[in-house]
Amino acid sequence: MYSSLLTFCYLIASVTFIVGLKMLSHPATARKGNLVAAVGMTLAVLGTIFLYEKDGQPLGNYGWIFAGIAFGTILGTVSAKKVKMTAMPEMVSLFNGMGGACAALISLVEFDHLMHMHPLLILAISTDAGGVASLQGFLVIIVLGLIIGSISFAGSVIAWGKLNGSIKDFSFPGQHIFNLLVLAVIIGLATYLIAYLPANPHWFFYGIFGLSILYGLFFVFPIGGADMPVVISLLNSFTGVAAACGGFLYDNKVMLTGGILVGAAGTLLTILMCKAMNRSLANVLIGSFGGGAKAAATAGAQGAYKEITLSDTAVLMSYANKVYIVPGYGLAVAQAQHTCHELEKLLESKGVEVNYAIHPVAGRMPGHMNVLLAEADVPYDKLKEMEQANDEFATTDVVLVLGANDVVNPAAKTDTASPIYGMPILDVELSKHVIVNKRSMKPGYAGIENDLFFRPKTSMLFGDAKKVLQDLIAEIKSL
Ligand code: NDP
Repeated sequence: MYSSLLTFCYLIASVTFIVGLKMLSHPATARKGNLVAAVGMTLAVLGTIFLYEKDGQPLGNYGWIFAGIAFGTILGTVSAKKVKMTAMPEMVSLFNGMGGACAALISLVEFDHLMHMHPLLILAISTDAGGVASLQGFLVIIVLGLIIGSISFAGSVIAWGKLNGSIKDFSFPGQHIFNLLVLAVIIGLATYLIAYLPANPHWFFYGIFGLSILYGLFFVFPIGGADMPVVISLLNSFTGVAAACGGFLYDNKVMLTGGILVGAAGTLLTILMCKAMNRSLANVLIGSFGGGAKAAATAGAQGAYKEITLSDTAVLMSYANKVYIVPGYGLAVAQAQHTCHELEKLLESKGVEVNYAIHPVAGRMPGHMNVLLAEADVPYDKLKEMEQANDEFATTDVVLVLGANDVVNPAAKTDTASPIYGMPILDVELSKHVIVNKRSMKPGYAGIENDLFFRPKTSMLFGDAKKVLQDLIAEIKSL
């Protein structure tokens, strides 16, 4: 009776997902886009709870459903409110893992349902060719959701640990072969289970589950250096595909649309990240890079660095024609985006042209710097992509590197043993002066020293980015 109304809810929800995703593609509309999609999701969830009927019976179990929703809402709201901006990437990774876990749980539950169908019913299905085909089709989706969801869950938990520093890169000799073997066994077991419907399917099914979790762990464990962004976006797309499997399973259009949108967006992001990082997707899939710790030990910069005072920096920047700011993870740690925007406006009021050079993997999540600077209302047209910025550095007077390290490390171009070798970098050295602000000479995420700090054109301006920028603004004002 309510099924047309429910279909209508799903239609509206699907449209809001598409519109919301479109709005997310620009910082000015991103916040609203998120809200639009959230309203659609609420509609889809409430519609399912109150309008779904099977054999004329409503869903029921309302106590369990609302207890689950209340628990998840409280947990999600409290953790999202409490999380520091710098811990956002790891939280996003964990939430992504939860999506994968949900998809895997759906498969576990539906497999159990399938196994508890009346034996006579299974027999009837399996003695009729059409029935076998539909049982197999159902199993394909269940098994796919299980494999992809479990890999996404286990991989995202490791990514979460790596981003917050609690899990270190880990690998052992022959790990790539081991990973490939595990993947081959998973595919073999899944194919056998679906094709031959063996007498004891539980062993196959739970074996696939355990091995998929193992693969997820070992697939992300060795990935280090500058390759995490690619893996994070890949895991994101896995979760989308796993959710889409749930949509197929329940013939639920909105779940299917949502899953496909996340899967497609994640896949596109993965391809873009691979391009930005100069990696092939095959490398990512078999995990044949990383090895950060070994290379980090061998990479070492030589010589002495020179420091610059605040007053010299103020003079240099005030009398420049063109300045580029390179934001990095340290800017997010210092929460100095608003102060940075203030500096930019002050310099522009003095006739200096100021732009930002955005490296695709600066920070700790895709688009991190764009989000950070948008939060401070930095005009979007001031954010220049890496290629454009690299073209303009030769005519730039001063580049101010704010809490960035790996994304300006020349080792990526010259040191074949470096874990970031091959990654395109911001060629800040093409400009006349490079001023690097950070708190110490410590390395960045990839754990390697940066020769840029020792080069003749570079001067170090030590201190917390926010404090340094505040003092710099005061100094420029006093000129
Ligand atoms: P890095 O991690 O290379 O360097 C950040 C620098 O900021 C550090 O060297 C640190 O030096 C400095 N810093 C920290 N806190 C402050 C502060 N309060 N004030 C001033 N400086 C500070 O960052 P990048 O953005 O250059 O590079 C990103 C790295 O993260 C890449 O290796 C990338 O692959 C990786 N990554 C990126 C992801 C993404 O999706 N974008 C995801 C996962 C990893 P010091 O301690 O001396 O102050």
